[in-house]
Amino acid sequence: MTEMTVVPRADATLPEVRVNRHWIGGAHVGGAEMSDRVSPSHGVVVSRSAKGTEADARAAIAAARAAFDDGRWSRLSAKARAAVLLRVADLIEGDVERFAVVETLESGKPISQSRGEIAGAADLWRYAAALARTVEGDSFNGLGPEMLATVLKEPIGVVSIITPWNFPFWILSQKLPFALAAGCCCVVKPSEMTPSTTAMLAELLDRAGLPAGVVNIVLGYGQPVGAVLASDRDVDMVTFTGSTAVGKQISRVAADNLKKVALELGGKNPQVIFPDADMESAADAVVFGVYFNVGQCCNSGSRIIVHEDIAEDFVARVVALSAHVTFGDPLDPATQVGAIVTPEHGAKIDAHVQAAKAAGARVVLGGGPLQVPGLGAQFYRPTVVTGVTPDMAIARDEVFGPVLTVLTFRTAEEAVALCNDADYGLSAGVWSENVHTCLAFARNVQAGTVWTNTWMDGFPEVTFGGVKQSGQGREVGRYGLEEFMEIKSVVMRIGRTRANWVKTR
Ligand code: NAD
Repeated sequence: MTEMTVVPRADATLPEVRVNRHWIGGAHVGGAEMSDRVSPSHGVVVSRSAKGTEADARAAIAAARAAFDDGRWSRLSAKARAAVLLRVADLIEGDVERFAVVETLESGKPISQSRGEIAGAADLWRYAAALARTVEGDSFNGLGPEMLATVLKEPIGVVSIITPWNFPFWILSQKLPFALAAGCCCVVKPSEMTPSTTAMLAELLDRAGLPAGVVNIVLGYGQPVGAVLASDRDVDMVTFTGSTAVGKQISRVAADNLKKVALELGGKNPQVIFPDADMESAADAVVFGVYFNVGQCCNSGSRIIVHEDIAEDFVARVVALSAHVTFGDPLDPATQVGAIVTPEHGAKIDAHVQAAKAAGARVVLGGGPLQVPGLGAQFYRPTVVTGVTPDMAIARDEVFGPVLTVLTFRTAEEAVALCNDADYGLSAGVWSENVHTCLAFARNVQAGTVWTNTWMDGFPEVTFGGVKQSGQGREVGRYGLEEFMEIKSVVMRIGRTRANWVKTR
């Protein structure tokens, strides 16, 4: 087995246990029943949060409904809304360290990554503020001398936002500022595993001058809180990021009153490596793509499809590079890969790897939990699985761990067919120095995002989302704002030129 780079427990002081309550109508409420989040890396209680009830969820929806209907936010000028969003961005930027430490302890992700995600989230707020002032509709001036029509964009109304544990503050910031920029009022439910940074945002929203009731936060579990947020008749839209299974459930209950649903779900994202690729860059990106966030990432590059002629050399490069990736204490700034979110999830990752072995695949690196000195064993080894055939579960299912699956191809058509032979369609990548190869791939692959000679680069300007069972709707960018808008056509008559329909004489 290739040696790994493991970072033992750092000598860091842990913060006091954080207590989180709901934020409804501009006040902290709830807390009769609480639930604890134990750090996946450090095994200590990080936060104690109110466990939301159905009544809490309905109260939050009622507060958002009242705020939306009286226009305290939706009828403000875009300039005034943008000013509040910009103040929130400044406040986030001024508080990166406090947010990053809690995010790291609750999720297990490295502190350097948390710092980047919180600071990056501030930029999403800033971008959404800029977009708020660009909303425009259409006008129709060619309908005849007596007619004029305009198409207006309006905020959709009350939006439920349900987020997962893998990028808690980042994903919240891909949704909330865009919904607010559009003029919507919101009810937010973070994952029960990573509630703190969402709860902490309430203070910043208040300090930034957001009117009470415009954003309401209910902590707790999918049942009952998430289910109420997805089904309540007073909610106009639900935007969800999480597993495909829960996304389908949300779609089903939301269908009852036909509210709009936007879903960002799972992926089994392929990267295709052609023989003329820059091998050094491709191998580095493959290693980054599969180990980033311990593979607990919707965009995880969990499947590589390598040309037969170079497969052996390429896998050897990836295995060799894996030894230099620093796994270990998330609080150490040197760490690149942290802990697995729960012991149950760790067991699930391992079950995938063992099942692949049993099906005839070869585990050429890793495969099994990792004990980090001074911390527990809620870590997983960097793992590479070869000898995989497209029908094996490990080639098709979202493993959500640091596990790379290797398939091979002979022709470009075969590579694209392997990519598209999947239930998911979130992202895909191609590595070749030939622009024609890259363009043909980008055209033919079924994915919401295609990266050519890079992996997982994202920008507030560039919209993101999935096709097939990876979701529906788009986030960030202009389309991300428009998701939260309804369209209204206004048709106007100029002068009294129309003959009456009813003939009275
Ligand atoms: P999850 O589906 O278990 O939970 C997500 C959220 O939904 C949590 O807040 C949870 O409490 C809530 N929830 C659970 N049951 C619910 C119900 N019946 N009704 C309403 N809400 C309910 O997902 P997770 O384990 O937190 O996150 C991992 C998944 O998220 C992976 O599949 C990953 O691919 C996906 N993900 C997708 C993207 C993307 O942008 N496409 C980004 C990040 C994560």
